[in-house]
Amino acid sequence: IIDMGQAEHSILTTCAYCGVGCTFKAEMKGDQVVRMVPWKDGQANRGHSCVKGRFAWSYATHADRILKPMIRSKITDPWREVSWEEAIGYAASEIKRIQAKYGRDSVGGITSSRCTNEETWLVQKLVRAAFGTNNVDTCGRVCHSPTGYGLKTTIGESAGTQAFDSVMFTDVVILLGANPSAAHPVFASRLKRRLREGAKLIVIDPRATELVNAPHVKADYHLPVRPGTNAAILTALAHVIATEGLIDEAFVAARCELKAFEEWRDFVSLPENSPEATQSITGVRAEDVRGAARLYATGGNGSIYYGLGVTEHSQGSTAVMAIANLAMATGNIGREGVGVNPLRGQNNVQGSCDMGSFPHELPGYRHVSNDAVRHEFEQDWGVSIQSEPGLRIPNMFDAAIDGTFKALYCQGEDIVQSDPNTQHVAHALESMECIIIQDMFLNETAKYAHVFLPGSSFLEKDGTFTNGERRVGRVRTVMAPKGGMADWEVTCALSNALGYPMHYGHPSEIMEEIARLTPTFAGVTFKKIDELGSLQWPCNADAPDGTPVMHVDEFVRGKGKFMITKYVPSDERSTRKFPLLLTTGRILSQYNAGTQTRRTPNVLWHAEDVLEIHPADAEDRGIKEGDWVAIQSRAGETVLRATITERVQPGVVYTTFHFPESGANVVTTDSTDWATDCPEYKVTAVQARKVTQA
Ligand code: SF4
Repeated sequence: IIDMGQAEHSILTTCAYCGVGCTFKAEMKGDQVVRMVPWKDGQANRGHSCVKGRFAWSYATHADRILKPMIRSKITDPWREVSWEEAIGYAASEIKRIQAKYGRDSVGGITSSRCTNEETWLVQKLVRAAFGTNNVDTCGRVCHSPTGYGLKTTIGESAGTQAFDSVMFTDVVILLGANPSAAHPVFASRLKRRLREGAKLIVIDPRATELVNAPHVKADYHLPVRPGTNAAILTALAHVIATEGLIDEAFVAARCELKAFEEWRDFVSLPENSPEATQSITGVRAEDVRGAARLYATGGNGSIYYGLGVTEHSQGSTAVMAIANLAMATGNIGREGVGVNPLRGQNNVQGSCDMGSFPHELPGYRHVSNDAVRHEFEQDWGVSIQSEPGLRIPNMFDAAIDGTFKALYCQGEDIVQSDPNTQHVAHALESMECIIIQDMFLNETAKYAHVFLPGSSFLEKDGTFTNGERRVGRVRTVMAPKGGMADWEVTCALSNALGYPMHYGHPSEIMEEIARLTPTFAGVTFKKIDELGSLQWPCNADAPDGTPVMHVDEFVRGKGKFMITKYVPSDERSTRKFPLLLTTGRILSQYNAGTQTRRTPNVLWHAEDVLEIHPADAEDRGIKEGDWVAIQSRAGETVLRATITERVQPGVVYTTFHFPESGANVVTTDSTDWATDCPEYKVTAVQARKVTQA
């Protein structure tokens, strides 16, 4: 910790790491940040924080920051520093040239959860109005897109149902595919407090995460599910509830579509879906599945919290729908202490999705084929919008390799390091003619870029983030944009250079446009957020101060819809050649690709990704603690240092993905969720062998 001396003034803003969205007081001396102090009245954190938000913010002033725009004709040429005007003019002329030669849909844009709602809004507007295509996507594609699909299909809204505070009213928690102690630490503290008060905990995870054996809050059940079989275990839980008379019949009769419910009940009741029949698939003892199902259905208020261990699978959307089925079947939705709650990994991934940065949805999760909605945007923006969905991120890569997708504007996202099958991504980028990167650092993706536009850290931004509980909070400018232009101004300048005028005096004016065109944000203004501290959408005439609990009297879609969730084995399953299943997760002190957390002077952040392997699997391969181990999949090979532990089951290995040198995504494959193309990061069939050095 660096002592920066006494503060002279302070500014309230929102953490730029995980989806908890803690409010911090940035204590300042002149224009320098002295320290970040968690704000006692922050509605998401109530004075708490974790080490990332508290201490890992000095990347904002790191010497690696690129502060001048740069261009180059070929990626083998050296970068040339130019003025903002020249860089934006060059980017616009390249987009125009490429669209004239290859067609309107040969270009697209990717936005990021690093960006504010207002910045994201402008990127999707730029792509739709100035580029004239729906080829826009977000990093939400690679994390919670199945949440959007699964929850919209079953309960009608692509978001969690509760505020984080709701956990204080729960009696039984199912924690599925999530490790909040590392990834959402402030929420984990609140959950532990409730567990210490007596709430019960069921952990469904291939790995014994911290909460399985934490002091005083040990899980009542740990179901160590085999990677890739969530749909099977969730259906087995439903089987117990349906066949043992544990369904809340009154709730279902009043709130759900009965035909779909009956079909679902017939399906889950099949003998093949029983815990006994699925034990060989899931690897979990039938009696534990039965015990956990009874506890959830009869233990009082039951809530489900889940993470990327649910979504990042070939059946990610299936598992999300299976979770919603469980909540509806037991009446555990629509009041405090219950619900279905995706733990969003990134600070503004909820907002990034809300703001319409999907190729098939306009803001507010409304399909581009909806004529009435599209016409509303067309009238407001004065353009024609395509009624067909555009390309998702993996489709952009495939189209680039096929020669039909030629230019990409990428704001705040390092797709080379973040997306699966690095070799495939690199090939796609090499196939394009113009890549425009807007970022703080020359990241891995920038190696393939032709235009670099300096981006801003959260300390330089003005706008809003929306956390994992739909809470819209203010991000306030702590220091002036170091590159001279705010990110939203850069997007406006690019649009203006392309001939589509975008003029706003301040991000609050962008929010006025968001509110005008998005019913769930109709009542949101900067002024109201400043007055209330934050607010949870939907915020409109019916709920002027926001909505902490959704689906209270009826579901957003009207009646809840049960969905059939048949288990389909992943292509990534153990074979003689690749007998182990690799799964991934996070550590407390690092964040995603490490772009921010690795650029801090604190020693805590100088670590490495390691491979966790069960003692039996290590012994079979002659691997000892600390040995270098080569991990090979059908996509590629990387080398990691071994940690031998019973936290993982035999047949399962585990690593984190924070360090580019170990490159977990070199081995992850292009297997994706059937509905959304979310990559199957959580299951990769691999072989492991001892090697002499990295
Ligand atoms: Fe809060 Fe998450 Fe930031 Fe930690 S990383 S301070 S839990 S928002």
